Amino acid sequence: MNEQNILIVRCGEVALKGMNKPYFEKMLADRIKGNLKEFGGGISVKRQEGLIFVRADKELDIKAIIKQVSKVFGVASISQAVEAPSDIEAIGEEAVKYMMNLIEEKGVQTFKVEGKRADKTFPVKSPEIGRVIGAAVLKGCKVLKVNVHEPDVLLHVDVRSDRTYIYDAKIQGFGGLPLGTNGKGMVLLSGGIDSPVAAWMMAKRGMLIEAVHFHSYPYTSPRAQEKVEDLARIVASYCGRFKMHCVNLLPIQEQIVQNCPEEETTIHVRMFMMRIAERIARDNGCMMLITGENLGQVASQTAEALVVTDSAVSMPVMRPLIAMDKTDIMDKAQEIGTFETSIQPYEDCCTVFLPKHPTTKPKLEKILEAESVLDIEGLVEAAVKAKEVINIFPE
Ligand code: ATP
Ligand code: MG
Repeated sequence: MNEQNILIVRCGEVALKGMNKPYFEKMLADRIKGNLKEFGGGISVKRQEGLIFVRADKELDIKAIIKQVSKVFGVASISQAVEAPSDIEAIGEEAVKYMMNLIEEKGVQTFKVEGKRADKTFPVKSPEIGRVIGAAVLKGCKVLKVNVHEPDVLLHVDVRSDRTYIYDAKIQGFGGLPLGTNGKGMVLLSGGIDSPVAAWMMAKRGMLIEAVHFHSYPYTSPRAQEKVEDLARIVASYCGRFKMHCVNLLPIQEQIVQNCPEEETTIHVRMFMMRIAERIARDNGCMMLITGENLGQVASQTAEALVVTDSAVSMPVMRPLIAMDKTDIMDKAQEIGTFETSIQPYEDCCTVFLPKHPTTKPKLEKILEAESVLDIEGLVEAAVKAKEVINIFPE
């Protein structure tokens, strides 16, 4: 009888990393451990033969543990397994118990055994394992029938050097790479649908995240910022705690409105956002900026507008959503759990001084000339100096 619940965690792309494989696997195991801290002792996480095994005491909530593990980037899939000594009779007995449970819980009627021998010294070959264990299950569970084409349960029997693992279901993870294997990026986080998804996508590729949020207090309300904090907490449930720098953009917006052509307001504001974000990114060890911009979504995201916005900074700007359709972005937001919060109606600093007819084809020289009347350095400096930092913890 197994004293602990066992999870087999498969590493996906991490397994392809050649020479760096041990490093990636260790990072992944560490991230899994980190995500299971709240469950206290009674959990072990071990790397073995290209897999990661999580063992948890029976009294711990295994569903909650699986959920936490599935949120770790780099995890391809998870199976809850039982183990037996690598002895064909012992495996047969354990397989019978396993199937008995499934008959009781799910009314399973048909099955097929898929045997695999990772340990080549094991006397029974892979196809043979399927036959022998299949026969044992048929004998032990009289109600079951074999169905090789469409079985209710595909029972995996994975024979390893000293232990054998038996499981049926695979729970999909998100894939990607373990956090911390790809530097740190500063995400420009609004309360919208796009930017939390953009942050999540970069974090999925192993990038640590920090955030900057712009508000126009008192034109934007404290409640609007709380909504962004709620979103940030959901993002943090995947990528761990992070700092969110909150910057009041109002003094800069007022300068722009007073001194620059009305139709260019948004593009000027966006250039300042980029500059401020870049400054804060440099001060905090971030090597890239991340935005939720998306080609053609609004006037400030036409190809021309993006070229102008980009020119405001020298740091690379990652736009992981650039070529996605809005419906696909919304689906992703649903999947990661940010959508419902994103669609709550609160004002954003971008909508405070929205021009009636924003320019969609800004010319860089004209934009630069228009903003040359502003004390760009001084305004950026003052905004950064007045920022507040909030620590965001996973929800
Ligand atoms: P989202 O794009 O997140 O749905 P949105 O559509 O309101 O929000 P856009 O006007 O499309 O925002 O802005 C494009 C990008 O600029 C955002 O994805 C985000 O990265 C950044 N951004 C916009 N507003 C803010 C803000 N108030 N604070 C920080 N970044 C912002
Ligand atoms: Mg957007």
